Amino acid sequence: MNETRYIFRMDDITPTMDWDRFWSALNLLNRHRVKPLLGIVPQNGDPNLNCREPHPQFWDIMRTLGGRGLVDFAQHGYQHTLSPKPGRALLKATHGSTVDRSEFAGYSYPEQLSRIMKGRDILLEQGIDTTYFFAPNHSFDNTTLRALRAAGFTAISDGIALYPFKSFGLTFIPQQLWTPRRMLTGVFTICLHTNELRPSNLTTIRQFLRMPITCSSFQAEVDTFKSSPLRKVCNPLFKHAYSGMRTLRRTVSSYREASPQSHFPHNLSPTSEGGPSNMQE
Ligand SMILES: [Zn+2]
Repeated sequence: MNETRYIFRMDDITPTMDWDRFWSALNLLNRHRVKPLLGIVPQNGDPNLNCREPHPQFWDIMRTLGGRGLVDFAQHGYQHTLSPKPGRALLKATHGSTVDRSEFAGYSYPEQLSRIMKGRDILLEQGIDTTYFFAPNHSFDNTTLRALRAAGFTAISDGIALYPFKSFGLTFIPQQLWTPRRMLTGVFTICLHTNELRPSNLTTIRQFLRMPITCSSFQAEVDTFKSSPLRKVCNPLFKHAYSGMRTLRRTVSSYREASPQSHFPHNLSPTSEGGPSNMQE
């Protein structure tokens, strides 16, 4: 119960990603025997993810990494094209301020199922057989979850909780961090945006991996998932604490903007990462 486990997840894996950053991060993780979850965009249509010309051996490389057991795979949406929709995304309140744009939330069930299946078919054609999923921008709704289940998906990397949980018949492995941080207890997924990793980020990850921590993998957490009454109580408590901390940071932020000479202590200042920063230890 007291053990804390960490999973690393690398987002926005495409043939046009920043390959130097990808290899730097993956090699670092693999050197420490960490098996990250790679979120592959099946058919990228997002120009923001085009960092270079498409690598002609992209799928070969992915298959090799998977075959050697160095990574787990998840389907990361379909085309990563985000458009404003009036629908209400499930994680809107808890995952940053830009989740009004979605590839899924707000669209009809047939439309969502079609996008999910097209993505799945592309991955299958390339020999990537995964039943794990996470949506671009953390943006999905109940319809997405129904469609994912119908399409045969089993597990999601997302959600604010202390421990994995079940919802809509899917296993959720929560994703709460965007940079490594020591936490007291729970299962924490650290999301790395591959194309945005700077040397300083890698230094932080390297220092973290040298600490006496326990890393896990997405697949291991899904395979060993077990619910318990205590976990069912802990998850909503953590979510409330998380929301409360975000509200506090927003309040502090607006106060500081309105009053540049404010006397709030520095360690309560909001971060620009869109994720929790002061909830650990
Ligand atoms: Zn993404």
